[in-house]
Amino acid sequence: MYKENTMALKVVKFGGSSLADAEHFKQVASIIKADKDRRYVVPSAPGKRFSGDEKVTDMLYACYNAVRAGENIDELYGKICDRYNSIIEGLGLDFDISGELNYVKNTILGGHSGRDYAASRGEYLNGLILAKYLGFDFIDAENVIYFKDDGTFDAELTRQELSSELDRHEYAVIPGFYGIMPNGTIKTFSRGGSDITGSIVAGAADATLYENWTDVSGFMTADPRIVTDPVSIRTVTYHELRELSYMGATVLHDESIFPVRAASIPINIKNTNDPAAPGTMIVETTTDYDKDRIITGIAGKCGFSVITIEAERMNTTIGFSRRVLEVLEDFNINVEHIPTGIDTMGVVVRTEELEGCREKLFNSLNRAVKPNMLTIEDGLALIAVVGRGMVNAKGTAARVFDAVSSADINIRMIDQGSSELNIILGVDEDHYKDTIRAIYNEFYGK
Ligand code: ADP
Ligand code: ASP
Ligand code: MG
Repeated sequence: MYKENTMALKVVKFGGSSLADAEHFKQVASIIKADKDRRYVVPSAPGKRFSGDEKVTDMLYACYNAVRAGENIDELYGKICDRYNSIIEGLGLDFDISGELNYVKNTILGGHSGRDYAASRGEYLNGLILAKYLGFDFIDAENVIYFKDDGTFDAELTRQELSSELDRHEYAVIPGFYGIMPNGTIKTFSRGGSDITGSIVAGAADATLYENWTDVSGFMTADPRIVTDPVSIRTVTYHELRELSYMGATVLHDESIFPVRAASIPINIKNTNDPAAPGTMIVETTTDYDKDRIITGIAGKCGFSVITIEAERMNTTIGFSRRVLEVLEDFNINVEHIPTGIDTMGVVVRTEELEGCREKLFNSLNRAVKPNMLTIEDGLALIAVVGRGMVNAKGTAARVFDAVSSADINIRMIDQGSSELNIILGVDEDHYKDTIRAIYNEFYGK
């Protein structure tokens, strides 16, 4: 699985639940120390210790909002301090973090540092503690992870600076989730973004393996919160993983594929609470798949809307789709899917993107293409059925549709990717979970 002729070097990322309290820190340290090739460690902020608990990142966002609303944050920030202090205490560490905690609090109170600064401190503070506990160097992500003026990640500059910095440290902790803008302000990736940092560090270190440690034994065929005890997947291709994670399998951030894919570095998803379990390997290609099961995974998300446009002779009107898409571009709305019929065109977008511009968008579309009918309907859930085995297996789509209609669920939209790697279904949000269960039972039921 590793690249040949190179020394093994592993980058390991630990998620929030893996670093939620002192006991987990101890477990993480024993995993890291068990393999001297685990040289660069990317931590998240402390996550939930039990169901109903709060993630430190969420508490930091809440502090930022409270300051903006002119509210007092003493109690809330006090809870954040308690989380870090109890980790330090539980580890028996001789480390005074109070100066850092005060500095962060005052900076958030100052009100000029921004929302991302506040959120990023979860990883920063956890990184300081973890580095101290492991006896590793601490590399602040603000000195090695760069964004461009437009807010996109600066891969080139980061690779250059990060590689040369890593060369100076045999073992180091680099906090996940954030980096720096050209104007010196802190910027974070989107939620779950420590996975991306891990991947960037693996790319820059030219690692042989990127281990992503979480609270489940790998990537599962379906969300374990929806299907009871789903099968864990041994091998997934980058391509399948991207489809699944983009469509809601949040175990790994969908953008974490890019930095490692370019260098063919495999990702291994592992369980901090069960380190012996093999987890899931994510690789460029594999010819191996389970011929009886065909599909690799099912994932889904709620919160979509469909814009349906009907116009006579749409399919022979040159430039019709372009005009529709131009309007959406003017409104800065991302298009997720475009299921089309002969005289109808559907455009699926995330409902939140329509916020505040629904009526204007409606009017602009009416003006641009003068349709016979135009509707915007909310409440759509999208479900992706993904599998490299689908290319060779006839009748997979029929099995998916049969399973869903046998469960008495109406399919509102169908889109099959031209790569034949996926089938996307749109159903009412009320049927989101039942649809996933019906498809899972069809392919994985006993
Ligand atoms: P971390 O804090 O380690 O980054 P996350 O909460 O981001 O962990 O991701 C792990 C969680 O993803 C699991 O606990 C599980 O509830 C959820 N999840 C959703 N879909 C899947 C899936 N297909 N396979 C495994 N876990 C999934
Ligand atoms: N702590 C951040 C979040 O909660 C980033 C991460 O955990 O990956 O989104
Ligand atoms: Mg995560």
